Amino acid sequence: MPELVHAKAVRLAPGLRRVTAANPGVMTGTGTNTYLLGERDVAVVDPGPDMPQHVDAILAAIEHGGGRLARIFATHTHMDHSPATASLLRHRKVEVIGALASDRMFQDAGFSPDIECSHDQVFDGPEYSLRAIATPGHVSNHFCFLEQNSGYLMTGDHIMNGSTVVIIPPSGDMAAYINSLKILLDYPLTRLAPGHGDIMESPAAVVQWLVDHRLQREARVLEVLRAHGEATVDELVLEVYSDVPVAVHPVAKLSLLAHLIKLEQERRAAQANKRWSAVSI
Ligand SMILES: [Zn+2]
Repeated sequence: MPELVHAKAVRLAPGLRRVTAANPGVMTGTGTNTYLLGERDVAVVDPGPDMPQHVDAILAAIEHGGGRLARIFATHTHMDHSPATASLLRHRKVEVIGALASDRMFQDAGFSPDIECSHDQVFDGPEYSLRAIATPGHVSNHFCFLEQNSGYLMTGDHIMNGSTVVIIPPSGDMAAYINSLKILLDYPLTRLAPGHGDIMESPAAVVQWLVDHRLQREARVLEVLRAHGEATVDELVLEVYSDVPVAVHPVAKLSLLAHLIKLEQERRAAQANKRWSAVSI
């Protein structure tokens, strides 16, 4: 696999390059990956954070081979994925494709797509054919983009390499997330190109592992609930996520709440005064 470096375009496949932003962190892993499709009329998938050096690196990569910016796609509108759209548009006015956020949590309020994409909509360019796949779950306005010539799926924050995706209620939805993983099994994927971390092989196996992992976590939530009788999210996180560092617990609590909401919708858990309990069937 090509090395993951910051601020330098890395070639992944014919007509597919990656520029990784220098914004590493707990939520962003090694940094946000921006993907470039094509060499002449270049489509950018996930411009990334609006950092001047990242924008410069994207434009330098595009111009290196005599190409020009032609389109911008955003998997979703979290602050580490879409804000550089504004700077790229100042460089050249092009079509922006994505979906508007339904809440304001960690969202890029300035994002304004020319086309709000819909599920299975295909966007053809001279050197790519990009299929939008609606994947709500991490947030409700999330799309993955399948480059149909190579079979590479740009997963945004639906699937990351090296860390588990955080599900952030109310826009984030665990039941939707698991469904949005399963739907990927219907597509001919060759590799996963995540928004954070390196390329992932064996997409079907990765997706199935992620579904199983979420269902195991859900089973653990129920197990701990039954053991406690009733408990708050703060109490539950210590046991349900005892396998992850305490420093990650504030973030884990968001996904835990998403699990609890799913269980409540399925009438397998209930809450009163922020105390959760299992419902026996
Ligand atoms: Zn995100």
